Amino acid sequence: MILTCPVCGKPLLKQERSYVCENRHSFDCARSGYVNLLRSSSSSHGDNREMTKARTAFLETGSYAFLRDELAGILEEKQDGILLDLGCGEGYYTSVLPARERYGFDISRDMINHAAKRDKKTIYAVASIFDLPAGDACADAVLTCFAPCSEAEILRILKDDGMFVFVSPGPSHLRELKEVLYDDVYDNETQERFVSLRMEKEHLISSTFAVDHDALSNLFLMTPYYYHTGRERSARLDAIESMSLTAEFLIRIYRK
Ligand SMILES: [Zn+2]
Repeated sequence: MILTCPVCGKPLLKQERSYVCENRHSFDCARSGYVNLLRSSSSSHGDNREMTKARTAFLETGSYAFLRDELAGILEEKQDGILLDLGCGEGYYTSVLPARERYGFDISRDMINHAAKRDKKTIYAVASIFDLPAGDACADAVLTCFAPCSEAEILRILKDDGMFVFVSPGPSHLRELKEVLYDDVYDNETQERFVSLRMEKEHLISSTFAVDHDALSNLFLMTPYYYHTGRERSARLDAIESMSLTAEFLIRIYRK
């Protein structure tokens, strides 16, 4: 157990249906099994229920399964260790990753609730990935897949020689979708963003897949373009019955 109290920072212990620290701060498990360790009690953080549904429906098409397989292969090296997935969403990747003990953190209660319902082998917690309720040097491996991250927090929670896997969109990720939405299409930025973590390896993986109208709508909801595209341009997608898309992921492996 690597969880720490969001109030006082002491280790949490699991007691029946709650997590308790030595200062008697107590956090109840939800019915699905996750625990909310967010300091603020606001429930409107992160992705909402509609977004969770769209993401789940899209991921279940299997179009991103090749990334899931790739990550499971990379993390095999740390299969006897403790793994933390930061910004784990609905747990699509988390649930197959090899580890002795697995944790998933996300700011979205809807996502975490969904993840905890389906995957009983991972401990899921609602938490900020910028202020993780996890002990210092507790992790053998950390994954951040399509989520923001704090290098300082990753350095704090990783053991020496711990592995950090960071996944971001490759330069051509979903280029065909952008070509429908925008007149000028640029490659995605893939600039290195860490200063203290030591990069060991980086590689691109890609796959083309076909989407029908529903899968395209669901996928669009998962992308940043959904928030940055006006209604008129978004409407261009309504007319599309099916199309072929390229998924391209940049995988970077770091050591502490
Ligand atoms: Zn406490």
